[in-house]
Amino acid sequence: MTEQAPQNIVASTWTGPISLSGELPEKADIVIIGGGIVGVSTAWFLAKQGVNVVLCEKGHIACEQSGRNWGWVRVQGRDTREIPMMLESLRIWEGLKDEIGEDVGFTRGGCFFTANSPKELQSFENWVDIARDYEIDTRLIDAPELKKHVHGAAIEWAGAMLTESDGRAEPHKAAPAIARAAERSGATVLSGCAVRGIETSGGAVSAVVTEHGTIQTSIVLCAAGAWTSMFCGSMGIDVPQLRVRGTVARTASAENVLNGNVFDDRLGIRRREDGGYTVAHGSVLEHPVTPSSFRYFRKFLPALMQEFKIVQLSFGRDFIDEWTTPKEWALDMASPFEKTRVLNPSPTPSVLKGIRRNLDAMFPQLAQTPIVESWAGTIESSPDVVPIIDSIGSVPGFHVATGFSGHGFGLGPGAGKAIAGMLTGASTGIDLSALRLSRFFDGTPIKPQSSI
Ligand SMILES: Cc1cc2nc3c(=O)[nH]c(=O)nc-3n(C[C@H](O)[C@H](O)[C@H](O)COP(=O)(O)OP(=O)(O)OC[C@H]3O[C@@H](n4cnc5c(N)ncnc54)[C@H](O)[C@@H]3O)c2cc1C
Repeated sequence: MTEQAPQNIVASTWTGPISLSGELPEKADIVIIGGGIVGVSTAWFLAKQGVNVVLCEKGHIACEQSGRNWGWVRVQGRDTREIPMMLESLRIWEGLKDEIGEDVGFTRGGCFFTANSPKELQSFENWVDIARDYEIDTRLIDAPELKKHVHGAAIEWAGAMLTESDGRAEPHKAAPAIARAAERSGATVLSGCAVRGIETSGGAVSAVVTEHGTIQTSIVLCAAGAWTSMFCGSMGIDVPQLRVRGTVARTASAENVLNGNVFDDRLGIRRREDGGYTVAHGSVLEHPVTPSSFRYFRKFLPALMQEFKIVQLSFGRDFIDEWTTPKEWALDMASPFEKTRVLNPSPTPSVLKGIRRNLDAMFPQLAQTPIVESWAGTIESSPDVVPIIDSIGSVPGFHVATGFSGHGFGLGPGAGKAIAGMLTGASTGIDLSALRLSRFFDGTPIKPQSSI
């Protein structure tokens, strides 16, 4: 499948030799574009159904968002449109080790959203009510109980919202392990294989054209993460999507100050399997302004207004890069997906400084613990911060699964199951109608419920 990254770096940030990892089949029942957690999970569920599925990834499996995220697997705080899929996902995560025979570090240590004041704690009650409707174990806890879970924090929190059944997993392990399970079930997983575009016959999908040749197929899933809008745009399909950059770091192994995932407006922190912590700033996301920012400004206005305190606009190279990238290209020539094999943005130094400062202030016991690695990831967001999973009526056979908006890692396995059902007609009990693409064009109010 893919070459192994050297040890001691996040697998996804390794961009070194990328070449085709297998043999290009002539035809397939279904072709998936994108080897992130969504693509590989879908491939796994399809292969288990006996479908002849081929997955094409331009770089390495999990080389972009799916290998760079915080590793939180949570239902807490989610938009109600995602909850059934997320509950199914948690069930899949729970049994994953037994089912695929590989440990991806999943464990249920709980998810804590801390409150700095009684008023903030009270504001979580809305979501506790939602949780009750879905029989989720979310509850508000007071400061003394919080101290039992999060030892030695130097902050006097008023309490927290806690979902003990939420968990975490290791991003550098999860998608590659699921991809291997998909292969063992009969899927063909190709890395170093960019899809340039789609061929149609009578308006319907007839083949995908990759940099290594053509695969005949009548069904395609575009699970291309931050590239989906561009890919679909080249086919005349409008998928509103903007990119946001998140900087992340990991510490060396250190004493245990907490077991679960803790979110505070200064820090997002979770315990890692290797004994260190994955840490990020709790209230900084950067949006590099590009031509798409202007194009989709009105659709994203509600999300921007909700998140205006944490989204920082940056102006630089990204604008020119997008401006000069062609909107359409000939399929017999190198495409933009080959030009940039892996989106590998640099972590922002000022954000890293903020992470270090906040970590030391919140957990003085970790002040001497070195940060041993840092990286950044490009998150793709939809206007209402909820995924888009749909069949595209104007091109029969073409489907999209994108817009996971900064919280698709936890959702990945459940989404894979639901998407496989959408592609084959198998019943999964998960209703995808609220995630249809047309909600951004048919006058449905665009209302983000959760955070980016
Ligand atoms: C910093 C950060 C923190 C996050 N924290 C969390 C978290 O704690 N919990 C959580 O649930 N989620 C989190 N997320 C979000 C989560 O990582 C994503 O929502 C999820 O990984 C999306 O998966 P995906 O498969 O849709 O996309 P991706 O993982 O981005 O995969 C898409 C793949 O498609 C490939 N591709 C694109 N175009 C082509 C083409 N033309 N041909 C072939 N291949 C192509 C890309 O190379 C890429 O590998 C975070 C994200 C980031 C960046």
